[in-house]
Amino acid sequence: MIKDIYKTAETFHNDFYDFLKAVSTQPKKLMITGELINLYVASGYDKNSGLYEFIEKIQETISLDHSVILDVRIKIASIKFYRISLEEFLIEEISSKEFLIYKETVAKPDTLNTTLNLNFKPFYDKSPAVRDIKYIGSGVEYLNRFLSSQMFTNEERWKKNLFDFIRLHNFNGEQLILNDRIKDTKHLNNQINAALAKLGNHPANTPYENIKHILQELGFEKGLGKDAGTITHNLNLLDQLLNSPDHNALAEFISSIPMILNIAIISPHGFFGQEGVLGLPDTGGQVVYILDQVKALEKQLIDSLKKSGLNLLPKIIVLTRLIPNARGTTCNQRLEKIYGAKNSWILRVPFREYNKRVTDEWISRFEIWPYLEDFAEDSYTALLAEFKKRPDLIIGNYSDGNLVAYLLAKKFKVTQCGIAHALEKSKYLYSALYWYDLEKYYHFSMQFTADLLAINSADFLITSSFQEIAGTEKSIGQYESYMHFTMPGLYRVENGVNPFHVKFNIVSPGVNEKIYFPYPKTKWRLKETKRRIENLFFSNSEDPDVIGWLDNPEKTPIFTMSRLDRIKNISFLVRCFGESEELQQTSNLIVVAGKIDETMTDDYEEKEQIRLMHELITKYKLHNKIRWIGKLLPKDESGEAYRIIAERRGIFVQPALFEGFGLTVLEAMTSGLPVFATKYGGPLEIIQNGVNGFHIDPVNQEETTEKIVRFLSDSYIDSSVWDKLSKAAIKRVTEKYSWKLYSKRLLSLAKLYGFWKYATNLEHEDINAYLDLIYHTIYKSRAKILLEEHMKR
Ligand code: UDP
Repeated sequence: MIKDIYKTAETFHNDFYDFLKAVSTQPKKLMITGELINLYVASGYDKNSGLYEFIEKIQETISLDHSVILDVRIKIASIKFYRISLEEFLIEEISSKEFLIYKETVAKPDTLNTTLNLNFKPFYDKSPAVRDIKYIGSGVEYLNRFLSSQMFTNEERWKKNLFDFIRLHNFNGEQLILNDRIKDTKHLNNQINAALAKLGNHPANTPYENIKHILQELGFEKGLGKDAGTITHNLNLLDQLLNSPDHNALAEFISSIPMILNIAIISPHGFFGQEGVLGLPDTGGQVVYILDQVKALEKQLIDSLKKSGLNLLPKIIVLTRLIPNARGTTCNQRLEKIYGAKNSWILRVPFREYNKRVTDEWISRFEIWPYLEDFAEDSYTALLAEFKKRPDLIIGNYSDGNLVAYLLAKKFKVTQCGIAHALEKSKYLYSALYWYDLEKYYHFSMQFTADLLAINSADFLITSSFQEIAGTEKSIGQYESYMHFTMPGLYRVENGVNPFHVKFNIVSPGVNEKIYFPYPKTKWRLKETKRRIENLFFSNSEDPDVIGWLDNPEKTPIFTMSRLDRIKNISFLVRCFGESEELQQTSNLIVVAGKIDETMTDDYEEKEQIRLMHELITKYKLHNKIRWIGKLLPKDESGEAYRIIAERRGIFVQPALFEGFGLTVLEAMTSGLPVFATKYGGPLEIIQNGVNGFHIDPVNQEETTEKIVRFLSDSYIDSSVWDKLSKAAIKRVTEKYSWKLYSKRLLSLAKLYGFWKYATNLEHEDINAYLDLIYHTIYKSRAKILLEEHMKR
């Protein structure tokens, strides 16, 4: 158990003081955990002591003339700030605001008096929050219990609320569930009893149509169930809610109501399409996720509507930008049907034309901010035209999609759900503090403001993993990183997110089982695709998009596949391979990433990585041991790629410096591949280390190489080692990550948050006014500056 700072100072008095003194004399005035640990070790202190444990908890230090300021992560999602005067060795707790001001003093003192202060805490104090860390990410369960207990105490108000809510539902003017024969809650009670008595005379499988008239006369319309059995079950639930309510019955009843028919999913940036887009800059897992999500959601919606007795076809629209110069993709088409779905579409709305040289082209996700307000405005009209009414739910994706979702949900007055996929803030060191210097590349001033707006406006947020919200014991969560930060000269945020808020829910995605399935399922595999990929990977055929050949193609393949950006850290794997004789003796490296020619990309990070890859391959003389495939594999081929590697008893490595979730990790595991994946981010939760895969530290080459070498050599000695891991990986994905579970839960969340929003006015006009102010004063003025830059291009 880690000691608090006062006990640490008491127990390790001299060492702690000396360490702080050493910190204060470093040339760097701002230090982070890794640097502090290095300093601690280099100064010869004991790594097994309680002081070391405490140092590991320090996120940042700021050195001033006579004191050191500390940001200490006491436990998950809980931070405290201290000022330690070195003259008296006096420790004082300080506020987040004071801490941020110290940071500004060091980084950008000239902005101190002009920096706006933002604080959302007063709003959080008024909204329900889970208390225990272990409930972070299970917001809806807590919200149900909490609000139910409040509402059930006022019986009459509760009944009236429920009654009014149920009466709201109709489709195309046709009333659902209750008609106006039922006048009030007392009457509803009587009619439920009468209906239950009548239903008792009919077998459970009697279709709704055969009992429709009996029910209508009593005041009940369609929507309660497809047959007598389901309707009886739901009326019993309703009866229980009126007479002895409990939160489980409430959740079950609300989840069964046909409340959602039309969904808009927002993903403006990049190339959003179904073919030939994956791996283009900014286009990766998010597109895969949404396309799979849509199909699963549509199916779940149709099934749940059927269960309610409604033969309606729901509609899902993925809203994205239309790119006039679509580089051979379909991204210049207004409407595209989603394959394998019945009524789901990609709707593309162009950015308004300012400078054609910019708006006709793909624009990096870091630069699209000036166009989003008009895009939201035009999309409002386009969505209305497509749905013929307002959507019932709006789901935002990534910072830009969530900003547009915020604007649209406000205008449509509907439930807003947010999905981050990845938040950029924690990916780049000091991304907020030095925002001004980074602005020309990343435009974080708008992105982080958009994140703040979306996080605080969404009715609910779904994340793929726990760490996305609140991190781990040792590392900060993506959302958590918005708690306290400063962007000197723009604003400082004393408290910008509450990871304990009930809006957070963990709902992990799955994999498309038609494409990614275990390699032994030979019947499902297409011979031609298999032949093509085998040829590409192992035949040494000449290919203008491939670097390298394999002297011995029969060696064990070590496989990786991703976009080629800095964070994906593919060069790390090339280094591990390049520096290990053992690995090169037994294995080949197969890399599917980016392009092999830097002139073929506009993305400056990708260009840099391409140069680095060439450098490393030459440096380690890997040309005869590597196949670097610099082209995209279409979905079906990527599925087969994992299986071919598995068949050859290879492994998959995902060495990202940070991975929001890691779809490739799931895909590889479900194909039956032993996976070695980064311990920073989603894979930490997907993989149970040593059981169904391995965690690696993507900056520790020696340790990673050793882990891979050990596993491969154990597998050569005893082939059951590989088999056991392969089976365990498949099992993990089958049991835990399925789109069916995902869509069921997402729909239930949408209904429950919609219900609570209605029943308790969770709308919070006060926070919305605050957000409005931030949007109009900060966001829009920054967007205007960027637009002016674009106009000059
Ligand atoms: N992908 C693909 N072909 C490629 C490269 C990537 O089909 O040539 C797919 C990959 O199978 C995965 C997605 O793109 O489904 C990447 O998702 P991930 O979450 O791993 O990373 P992201 O790119 O979103 O950061």
